[in-house]
Amino acid sequence: METKRNGRTELIANQESQDNVSDFYDAVIAEFEPEIEKVNNLDQEEFITTARGLLRTIMIKLRHKFGAISGQETAYHLLPDPEDPNRENPLIVLGTGHCGYAEMGGCSMCSFGESATRDVSEQEIDEAFEMAKKSNDQYTAPGSQAVFNINAIGSFFGISELSDERRKYILDKVKGYKKEHQDKNVVFVTESRFEDITEESMAVLREELGEEIPIEIGFGVESTNDLVREAIVGKGLDSQWQKKKEILKKYKIDCALHMMFGLPFLNEREQVADSVNSVRDCLSKTGDYDRILLMVMNKKPGTLVDAMAKDGKYKLPNVAQAAEVVIRLGREISAKELKKILVFGLVFPEGAKEAGAEGLEISTSEEQRIMDILLNWRSTSEELIALEAAFHALQANTYDISLLDEPLPEIDEERMKVDMLKQYIKMLTDIYCPNEKDPKKAAAAVRGILELAPQMGGSI
Ligand code: SF4
Repeated sequence: METKRNGRTELIANQESQDNVSDFYDAVIAEFEPEIEKVNNLDQEEFITTARGLLRTIMIKLRHKFGAISGQETAYHLLPDPEDPNRENPLIVLGTGHCGYAEMGGCSMCSFGESATRDVSEQEIDEAFEMAKKSNDQYTAPGSQAVFNINAIGSFFGISELSDERRKYILDKVKGYKKEHQDKNVVFVTESRFEDITEESMAVLREELGEEIPIEIGFGVESTNDLVREAIVGKGLDSQWQKKKEILKKYKIDCALHMMFGLPFLNEREQVADSVNSVRDCLSKTGDYDRILLMVMNKKPGTLVDAMAKDGKYKLPNVAQAAEVVIRLGREISAKELKKILVFGLVFPEGAKEAGAEGLEISTSEEQRIMDILLNWRSTSEELIALEAAFHALQANTYDISLLDEPLPEIDEERMKVDMLKQYIKMLTDIYCPNEKDPKKAAAAVRGILELAPQMGGSI
């Protein structure tokens, strides 16, 4: 049997060898007992900075080792329309080569590129745009939507991903389409990191597209709990991220906030609690046309969740848990607020499975029924009723449905911090001392990284 400790390269022939490997990591972690004991005395900001520094180091290595999705080619997909079951909307992901943030480790559940930046050619843009046009041209009724959802790998407004000239080229094409189709509601959709949203970048965007074209920009937030978002995901949002909403509002730009459901280090109940809390927090800050996307976790090579799953420390959530999040929110919010919540991540773009991505496992017909409802989720009260009925039909050996009526727990941040530190120490040992047999020597090497972590984990 091959060992999970990719560094300790020998094949493990028997249980005894596996136990030896496990004893080795326990001995390394034991060397850090003083640091682990003190972890809950650190102030929150101090812990986050250190954890983010460790995570960045781990993610850079994981991405190199397992090969992040490089994004060297422009990709074109069709996505179901969130409101109309009879239409699909084009999605263009420009092959900008990398996400600027991934160079610093990026987000721990993401395997998007950190290869060299690539200048997307005008020809490539033209070809993808033609496909998007064809798709939009099918819908001919006056007033029908034409959606141009055009993204860079990480951030459309990131200067390391797209030059101003290329961005203008793309926006001019969208504006040109609107000129030719005055009777249509032409919408521009993209994604960005918050740090690229500035007064200047949004003023230019609005000026390029004019007042007639509605704009929606999506942002990964993942969790509104600072510890979860920064120490587990490594999102790198500064504390002022919510202020960016004022700039968006000024230029009449809607936003879609993406929340991640199923993060590691949270137990099953905490995963539900974190997503319910995060969506609720965001609802209070969103405007009428903003959306909240509940992204269900999947597992891709080169990510923290994949590495932890290989180590037996993480498993993807259950589809019933995802349903519980939606039902709980549905019970406490208005129908108007419910319309803002979409569920994503249950299907992969073409090719992702071949590249090793894994999604939620479905084992029973009752779970499949829930999956089908969530896959076609358009946030209506009728769907909520159907989802709740499907949830209550789950067999006791699949999911304890009585949990739905139990209060959700507080997130146990003290436990999480200890678990995180231990796991990150273990992963760093694997990465930096793959062949070291002496736990003290391995611990000495990792201690050097731990000391540097607060500098590595500073804000971007
Ligand atoms: S910003 Fe987006 S693309 Fe970049 S690492 Fe994070 S999730 Fe991935």
